[in-house]
Amino acid sequence: MGKKLFLFDLDGTLVTTGGAGLRALDRAFESLLGLRNAMEGVSPAGKTDPLIVREVFVEKLGRVPSADDTRAVCESYLRYLPEEVKNGSGYRVMAGVRETLRALAAREEMVLGLGTGNLERGARIKLAPAGLNDYFPFGGFGSDAEARPEVLRAGVRRAEARSGERFSPRDVFVIGDTLLDVEAGKAIGATTVAVAAGHAGLEDLRAGNPDILLESLAAERFWEGLPR
Ligand SMILES: [Mg+2]
Repeated sequence: MGKKLFLFDLDGTLVTTGGAGLRALDRAFESLLGLRNAMEGVSPAGKTDPLIVREVFVEKLGRVPSADDTRAVCESYLRYLPEEVKNGSGYRVMAGVRETLRALAAREEMVLGLGTGNLERGARIKLAPAGLNDYFPFGGFGSDAEARPEVLRAGVRRAEARSGERFSPRDVFVIGDTLLDVEAGKAIGATTVAVAAGHAGLEDLRAGNPDILLESLAAERFWEGLPR
C-alpha cells in the first residue's frame, strides 16, 4: 500500500480559539476601514480567510475588495491575532486530537499536513499555544487560494514535493468539522472525514455524505481500519 496523506482543518477540528480570529478580524476592519462589528452576521466556519474578507466587503461595504484591500486586512488581522489568541479565554484543543496526531505520526506510512482556510501565519499563531505546529511541517492554507479545493490541492502538492510520493486521491484524507470541508474534499476526490465536534452537528454533516463521520476524534480510531 502507498502512503496516506491526512490534511487537517484547524478551527473546530484541531483547536478552537474561542473567537480570537473573529475579534482580530473585527479589529482589522475597524482600524483600516472604520467598520465596526464587521463579523456580526458573517459565518466564517469552513471558509478561507480571503473568502471571509470578501464576504465582509460585499455584505458590509457593498463592494468587492481589490487584491490590495484583502492583503491589507489580512496583514492587520495577523497583527491583532496573537494578542487575541493569548488573551481570549476560550482556547482549547479538541477532544482526541493529541491522541490522534500522536498515533498517526508514529506510523511511517501516514503523512500529516494542514488543510485549512487560515492564512499560514494565522494557522501557526493559532496552533502555537497547543504546541501542535511540529506535527504539521506543511499544509495548504487560505494564503494559497480563496477556494477551499485549491487550498487542499496546494497541500497535496507540498506533500508530494516533500515526500517524493504520488498520492492517489482516495489516499488523501480530508478531516474537517463543516460541510464545506466535506465538499472541498470531494471536489479533489479525497476520502472525507467529518468530525461533529466543532461547528456542525452529526446530522448536518451526514447530509454532506462524508466517507467517515465521527462524533469527535476521541470517539473512534478511524485510521486503524485503513489498509496498511
Ligand atoms: Mg473548521
